[in-house]
Amino acid sequence: MGLMRTVLLAGSQSVWLRERAMRWGFVKRATKRFMPGERLEDALGAAGALQREGTATILTHLGENLAALSEAQPVVDEYVAAQDRVRASDLNAEMSVKLTQLGLDQSSEACYRNFKRIADHAATMGRSVWIDMEGSGYTEATLDLYRRVRREQPNVGVCVQAYLRRTAADLDTLIPMGAAIRLVKGAYQEPVSIAYPTRREVDENYFQLASRLIGDEARRAGVFTGFGTHDGALVARIQERAAATGVPRNAFEFEMLYGIRREAQSRLVADGYRLRVLISYGEFWFPWYMRRLAERPANVLFVLKNLFGG
Ligand SMILES: Cc1cc2nc3c(=O)[nH]c(=O)nc-3n(C[C@H](O)[C@H](O)[C@H](O)COP(=O)(O)OP(=O)(O)OC[C@H]3O[C@@H](n4cnc5c(N)ncnc54)[C@H](O)[C@@H]3O)c2cc1C
Repeated sequence: MGLMRTVLLAGSQSVWLRERAMRWGFVKRATKRFMPGERLEDALGAAGALQREGTATILTHLGENLAALSEAQPVVDEYVAAQDRVRASDLNAEMSVKLTQLGLDQSSEACYRNFKRIADHAATMGRSVWIDMEGSGYTEATLDLYRRVRREQPNVGVCVQAYLRRTAADLDTLIPMGAAIRLVKGAYQEPVSIAYPTRREVDENYFQLASRLIGDEARRAGVFTGFGTHDGALVARIQERAAATGVPRNAFEFEMLYGIRREAQSRLVADGYRLRVLISYGEFWFPWYMRRLAERPANVLFVLKNLFGG
């Protein structure tokens, strides 16, 4: 895909750049467009405002790739406490976590225990927890962990990426389990050998996978799908497919990111579709923010405007 995307995704991995950019005021100001703030209070406030407009939310505490396993414990504690706050505020908000934030690089067994603690806590409240999908080096381990937890309790969902060639085969095992699945295009830099290189191919694969996820086999198995995309053409195709095959509007949901295509978000709710908006918070925003810039390089202009505009 584009050179700018490649450069921005390479930059997202740079410790040198991260240490500097996180101190630059203009970059921090620009992030406000995509996150209401760094504190849980900020995320809860935004979730409350969205709920009043008929939109449910997903909260994620930013972080990934821990340096040591000991760093996972505060992350688990944060998610457990956040769930308590969500319940106390009577919000329809679910959590979404990255497994490398829970120690996947260090120990898959410890990561499983950490995730299970978050999922168990959610289960006591009758809520679901989502697992984000990270770069392709983690796909297999993420799906393994997901299947293991899913066999023990039903309130967990996992993200799969339409740019990966393997995803159709992954659905062969996830659909019969009655999994909860978030389908996205994919936000990382991946080689052509494993990922579709053109936008047209990714979009077409997304639609094929989406059609399966609202198809008869998936519905019979109890699959629930969140379509995580802001792509208006894909949203329309999914809506048409659902209508043509008699799938009710509330049998699936659309999921979008906070601050992106707000007018499209309002339209979905007005048209009677379920919408969940993912709100990120936390101090470790740099790699996440760079992926948002890579999705739409025009966003870089917005960062520059903050540099020159004050
Ligand atoms: C709820 C949710 C959860 C996600 N979880 C994951 C995950 O776990 N793993 C993963 O790899 N990816 C995840 N993603 C990101 C996803 O993979 C894509 O990178 C991202 O959604 C952009 O793709 P798109 O489908 O919106 O289509 P695109 O074709 O990229 O965008 C369609 C249109 O949406 C708008 N748009 C999209 N992105 C932006 C942006 N950053 N800024 C401004 N406008 C924008 C533009 O108008 C663009 O033309 C998630 C996305 C969502 C919505």
